[in-house]
Amino acid sequence: MVSFKEIGLVNTREMFKKAVDGGYAIPAFNFNNMEQLQAIVQAAAETKSPVILQVSKGARNYANSTLLRYMAEGAVAYAKELGWENPQIVLHLDHGDSFELCKDCVDMGFSSVMIDASSLPYEDNIALTKKVVEYAHKYDVTVEAELGVLAGVEDEVSSAESHYTKPEEVIDFATRTGCDSLAISIGTSHGAYKFTPDQCTRDPKTGRLVPPPLAFDVLHEIENKLPGFPIVLHGSSSVPQEYVDMCNKYGGNLPNAIGIPEEQLREAAKSAVCKINIDSDSRLAMTGAIRKYLAENPSHFDPRQYLKPAREEMKKMYIHKIVNVLGSNGKA
Ligand SMILES: [Zn+2]
Repeated sequence: MVSFKEIGLVNTREMFKKAVDGGYAIPAFNFNNMEQLQAIVQAAAETKSPVILQVSKGARNYANSTLLRYMAEGAVAYAKELGWENPQIVLHLDHGDSFELCKDCVDMGFSSVMIDASSLPYEDNIALTKKVVEYAHKYDVTVEAELGVLAGVEDEVSSAESHYTKPEEVIDFATRTGCDSLAISIGTSHGAYKFTPDQCTRDPKTGRLVPPPLAFDVLHEIENKLPGFPIVLHGSSSVPQEYVDMCNKYGGNLPNAIGIPEEQLREAAKSAVCKINIDSDSRLAMTGAIRKYLAENPSHFDPRQYLKPAREEMKKMYIHKIVNVLGSNGKA
């Protein structure tokens, strides 16, 4: 048993309270490797932004859970070395799908876990979430739950159709489970293909696809039911077209990749939405930069040569999100 406190991590409780009161959102960036972690920690340290290091079940299997625990501890030490006196870093399990997985993460130093039982019938979702909350709270680990279904594909999680969260259920759900935050479905979606072209309109000037707007009416109804309660948005990458173009120009094939416009995320961050999950944008930045570097330097084969520009591109993207979309800079 490793407590997150020994590693120097924090849970989300204070962080979310400040974010809801302050009208900004905390970035939750997924990571699976050293370069992503370096870029996230550098971006957060330079902007003094609280940050959530997010690991899915698939990423945990990919990286190894023992190594992850030390990477998180290393992230805190590295942040301090970069001059961030009191790093506000969370290690969070993204889309935990069983009590056992959540328990394992609590026992391995995670400071926050998500139990995603949203695909189960309502009462079963409550029962499983409550069981995870009871265990996690013994160790002061915070728990994110989910109500409603997001469309899209992300590691183990996939659904063809989305179902908006029903505002009439949120009070009962939050009260009976005791969860610390709630992921809701209001039209965001996992992956780099959030919408099909026929769900979108086309911008006549650029010819680019414009996705349907998020359901802010559902969000506001939920906020009215649970004033001040931390709300989470999954599937909130913007799929920057510069990275899609970079991938496609240098040998990639990502037709019609499309995300959530940043203006809408900026608006959501001002509400009770206090955690915004971004994964695909980092994948695109990294892959775009690597493709470009290798295409321009076909004789190079030292991974540091192409991973360095990839890391720089991701860092630039993370700083942009923190400063221009979430507004979490200077809050830690
Ligand atoms: Zn998600």
